[in-house]
Amino acid sequence: MIDIKSMYCNELEKYITDNDFPKYRAKQVFTWLNKGVESFEEMKNLPKNLIEFLSRSSYISVANIEKKLVSRYDKTVKYLFRLNDGEFVETVVMNYHHGYSICVSTQVGCKMGCTFCATGRSGFSRSLTASEILAQIEKAQKDLKVRISNVVLMGMGEPLDNFDNTVRFLKLVSCEDGLNIGMRHITLSTCGIVPKIYELSEYKFALTLSVSLHAPDNETRSKTMPINNKYPIEELIKACRHYFDVTGRRVSFEYAMIDGVNDSDSCAEKLGNLLKGLNCHVNLIPVNSVKGSGFKKSRIERQKSFVNILSKHSVTATVRRTLGSDINASCGQLKRNHTKKGGE
Ligand code: SAH
Ligand code: SF4
Repeated sequence: MIDIKSMYCNELEKYITDNDFPKYRAKQVFTWLNKGVESFEEMKNLPKNLIEFLSRSSYISVANIEKKLVSRYDKTVKYLFRLNDGEFVETVVMNYHHGYSICVSTQVGCKMGCTFCATGRSGFSRSLTASEILAQIEKAQKDLKVRISNVVLMGMGEPLDNFDNTVRFLKLVSCEDGLNIGMRHITLSTCGIVPKIYELSEYKFALTLSVSLHAPDNETRSKTMPINNKYPIEELIKACRHYFDVTGRRVSFEYAMIDGVNDSDSCAEKLGNLLKGLNCHVNLIPVNSVKGSGFKKSRIERQKSFVNILSKHSVTATVRRTLGSDINASCGQLKRNHTKKGGE
């Protein structure tokens, strides 16, 4: 069976014309798919024989709502979606003053094993197809009856460990006849798979690359992020400089502040020196405590001190507002609770 929603418009045209249907039907099918239809019967302007052909030879990826939580504080919505094969992923929709942002998953679980992360702690099952990443956005738009204008690839999984499907998703989601969400409204977050950062930069997408740094030196970083043993910090920063040189896009760094682990003044000094002269922005996030990790949020005083020290090094940093704190909006936690209840 063909994963029809992962096809580019020209691929769909070939598929349709090779099977003796007129070319203009491809555009109609593509438009329906991007409206989020979940069955071929919903494609009202297609002839019966085309609907039959499509149903016989292909399938539509769907994100079914298994669970939906709405934050009482800020209306952040978190979904647990069930995919066609019964796997679960999490998606979060946030309402900022400039519009709706969605945080999508790119894999079921993650192989990278970061110790502070709920997804990393619950293992890896499989990568998502481009259509399964799109389906999360389409379902959320349909359910909330809003247009989503910004996408962050910061849900479950490591997008650069699912490189080809992620690139396909990026091209599809930004395509004019598709959801038409421009690259400038997309952020891709990675734990730092260095060769893939170089590969991504070759596409010259105008998206924001967000790098999960979380430590200013190899010793501290390797303790919480195993990927650092493979691609040490110096190589990662070099790749980020290259990304900026090639794309002209400012890189952003995520730094989850963990009490007593990476939040001392000396850590801030090291971070300032590391990032000096690089066109970037640092997002400081008080770490979300995940069961079993033993990590606690840094105190406010630590967060303020970090911002001050970084600014002395001419590195801009902000403490990120946490949304949806009552619904465990950081990814991985809902799925973990759900599958534990059902399975173990
Ligand atoms: N795998 C990618 C994208 C998904 S994780 C990556 O690691 O960048 C999205 C972001 O959430 C990353 O910056 C990650 O480091 C961060 N994160 C994971 N667990 C967290 C926690 N417990 N508290 C704060 N941020 C966390
Ligand atoms: Fe994977 Fe990102 Fe979690 Fe690390 S932080 S385990 S890379 S999802």
